[in-house]
Amino acid sequence: MAGVKPFKAMAITLFPDMFPGPLGLSLAGKAIEEGIWTLETVDIRDFASDKHRTADDSPFGGGAGMVIRPDVLEAAVAASHTSGTPLIYVTPRGRLLEQSRVRTLAAGSGMSIICGRYEGIDERFLEAREVEEVSLGDFVLSGGEPAAIALIDAVVRLLPGVVSKTKSLEDESFETGLLEYPHYTRPDTWGGREVPEVLKSGHHAKIQAWRRMRSEEITRERRPDLWARYKAGSIGVKK
Ligand code: SAM
Repeated sequence: MAGVKPFKAMAITLFPDMFPGPLGLSLAGKAIEEGIWTLETVDIRDFASDKHRTADDSPFGGGAGMVIRPDVLEAAVAASHTSGTPLIYVTPRGRLLEQSRVRTLAAGSGMSIICGRYEGIDERFLEAREVEEVSLGDFVLSGGEPAAIALIDAVVRLLPGVVSKTKSLEDESFETGLLEYPHYTRPDTWGGREVPEVLKSGHHAKIQAWRRMRSEEITRERRPDLWARYKAGSIGVKK
């Protein structure tokens, strides 16, 4: 958008060819073309000092797998990270990603994301750089690239101008502290199932009340943790 500096996403990775992947298509891809955000990748191996471009080594103390070296990673980060913006390491042991953090990231000017592989990265690097550790959930991916892509996607869609109707963002899961209500479209009857009458009534207040009720039911049933926080008033933008 004219006059606004694009949001800058930097992926620090051993597999730069995994980018842009899905980020080059649909909403995110169109937003790159429109200059709303930029995506850069840094190949950690470019900063290795040997002819084999070695970026990892076996863990002290023994055990399976390899660990990304702190010296090679530090050189990659020093060459690419914009100071003053968040430096994130995606890892299962990080703080669970929530929409509130995504919103804060989208309000900034950019972020760098370190994608782990193998067993992860040397702890001393994380301490020295005060890296923010972020998890996508309680499961283990084979590498940080899909996690980085998911995080970037979540942030980019909140940048001004990416999703045209601001309203459609406000109503989404987590924005009110609740999961979203169900959606229906044509045909009116499908497989013997009807669209709820109230949604065809044209009565705005009744529709809003029905949606709120269904949001609350679904959240209570599926996510007791979110429900408890919602009831306590600790998450979401209450409307
Ligand atoms: N040894 C690590 C552990 O037990 O926590 C798992 C390493 S995993 C095989 C390799 C990389 O995938 C990690 O360094 C991290 O960057 C990424 N990764 C795996 N699961 C993730 C998750 N749930 N959230 C974010 N990143 C994840």
